[in-house]
Amino acid sequence: MQDSAFRLILHFGRRNFMLGMIIIKRTLFALKALEDFILPRSCRVCGKNLMVFEKHICLECLADFPFTGYWRLAESPADDIFAGRVKLEKVHSLFFYSGAYKKLIYAVKYKSDIGLGKFLGRMLGKSIMEFYSNPDNKIGFPDYIVPVPLHFMKKLKRGYNQSEVIAEGISQVTGIKIEKRLLKRRRYTKTQTRKDRTERWLNVKKAFRLTRYGAEFSARLFGQDMSQTAGAGKKPDSPTVHFLVVDDVLTTGATLEVCCSILRDNFDCPVSAATVAFVE
Ligand SMILES: [Zn+2]
Repeated sequence: MQDSAFRLILHFGRRNFMLGMIIIKRTLFALKALEDFILPRSCRVCGKNLMVFEKHICLECLADFPFTGYWRLAESPADDIFAGRVKLEKVHSLFFYSGAYKKLIYAVKYKSDIGLGKFLGRMLGKSIMEFYSNPDNKIGFPDYIVPVPLHFMKKLKRGYNQSEVIAEGISQVTGIKIEKRLLKRRRYTKTQTRKDRTERWLNVKKAFRLTRYGAEFSARLFGQDMSQTAGAGKKPDSPTVHFLVVDDVLTTGATLEVCCSILRDNFDCPVSAATVAFVE
């Protein structure tokens, strides 16, 4: 008797909970619509007001999104950039940096649009998942996402590091852990437009280094204690990890080359790279 009474309470409790959730969801949707009416959100590409169900980019601009489709290729122009410079397992790049779509990067980098950064990161994450779901790929799944660091003064000024924001989006979709403590940006690199290519390259090379934490991490990896190094998709006793270095845009590849080289030199392990935009 007591048991059936308890079940009845549980049943109504569950029903009320579901009803409550529906009411909350509907109220939030209505509030969002009201907010859009008072403070219209606009598409980050074309500037048109967004509908309640649209996020950051309108459906029309999403339909014309200049995807690279590189995640469907074993070797793409993004991979070719690093040929003969640093050995990378795979270079992921989501869209061509072109036309009005350039505004997306500007908004993430200079307009504090963190929501958009995570949104683009999630899109990139989905393309990475698609790449690894292809059974033809023999490359192991990455264990850690390493965002390209900003100099702390620059991060302080901007309030965030756009590469970390993108990394969070990738992590939300792929489940790969983020490790931000391995690399450090040494100096504040001012605008490099007046410098020649070699000077620019040397400047970038000097700008990054492995942190003390990174050195300890590497020592642990090569030492006895392997318990700390197990990541997604790897056996706990696996002697290597696979790093995925993340940046916003892939242009000459100098920054990624330096960061990836530091990881390869110190960890002797597979390294991949990912950016949201690709400059043709
Ligand atoms: Zn639009």
